Amino acid sequence: MTILVTGAAGFIGMHVADRLLAQGHAVIGIDNMNDYYPVSLKRDRIARLQADHGRLFTFHELDFADLDALHAALADQVIESIVHLGAQAGVRYSLINPHAYVRSNLAGHVNMLELARERRVRHLVYASSSSVYGGNDTLPFRVEDRADHPVSLYAATKRADELMSETYAHLFRIPMTGLRFFTVYGPWGRPDMAMWIFTSKILAGEPIPVFNHGRMQRDFTYIDDIVSGIIGCLDHPPADDGAPKAGGSRAPHRLYNIGNNQPEELMHLIAVLEDALGRKAEIDFQPMQPGDVHATYADISAISQDIGFAPTTGIESGVPRFVQWYRDYHATR
Ligand code: NAD
Repeated sequence: MTILVTGAAGFIGMHVADRLLAQGHAVIGIDNMNDYYPVSLKRDRIARLQADHGRLFTFHELDFADLDALHAALADQVIESIVHLGAQAGVRYSLINPHAYVRSNLAGHVNMLELARERRVRHLVYASSSSVYGGNDTLPFRVEDRADHPVSLYAATKRADELMSETYAHLFRIPMTGLRFFTVYGPWGRPDMAMWIFTSKILAGEPIPVFNHGRMQRDFTYIDDIVSGIIGCLDHPPADDGAPKAGGSRAPHRLYNIGNNQPEELMHLIAVLEDALGRKAEIDFQPMQPGDVHATYADISAISQDIGFAPTTGIESGVPRFVQWYRDYHATR
């Protein structure tokens, strides 16, 4: 198959492209290489994909919120399925630069829906987020639960993406799957996320900021498990049979949580990280940040039943793999 992967220079996009290419698919990658975090890391990810997979991988540097640019780049290319991972990510930054979220996550998402409609793709799989559960305090989060009270603009755009996708699936009968990811980490991870920030500060001997005085839980999910879930879903599009799907839609649209199903105390994560790094962290406790939530915890029964998703990597084994990659990456730069 030829599969379009948006956000291919991003953390999850790079890994998904890598696995699809290793399986023998052709991948067309798109990314605008925005500078939300260092562009050098994005360029290194693309260089790695090109070095490892050669001509099976095509890359277009473009903004998918620009429909003309999207059409021009893809005019002669066959696209059978789309994995749409490109987005303006990050909860806290959405309080600072809301328009980046409106452009990439709303206008850009509609462009991908339009592309899916024009090309009659076999399946569109797109990234949503655990943040859509917002103020829900009943744990674990289930896809059947209401997700109508986002506490950040980022979460609001992701929830809007789900609603717009369901509408397109209903109107144009295009199979779609929205995936609510829970705090993803691993090699080639994101410098704006806690795992990277803590690692770099502990190694530099600087204090690490720990919000809500450490009283936080996250369902940390290892990248290889996330990729298995995404590709497992891609291979099994929802049927257009009028039966209700995960998340409640009767259109060929379903929603799944992809998490580790194991919430961890932030202070436990720090202890695991200290072990992997062989250094103690100096902790700077800070209050809760606006837009943040206290706990995330994925109920994964829907995706487990439908596609056999079963995460295998907990933080005790995943964190040392991230740390090893982090050391190797910085040793060669
Ligand atoms: P990332 O920031 O590393 O990757 C996203 C990529 O999209 C970036 O490389 C960025 O340059 C690109 N992009 C943004 N706007 C674009 C545009 N208009 N045109 C073209 N490219 C654009 O983030 P990630 O961690 O790989 O996340 C992938 C997806 O998963 C995102 O949709 C994100 O919101 C979602 N998600 C991630 C996590 C996580 O823990 N990493 C959790 C929940 C949801």
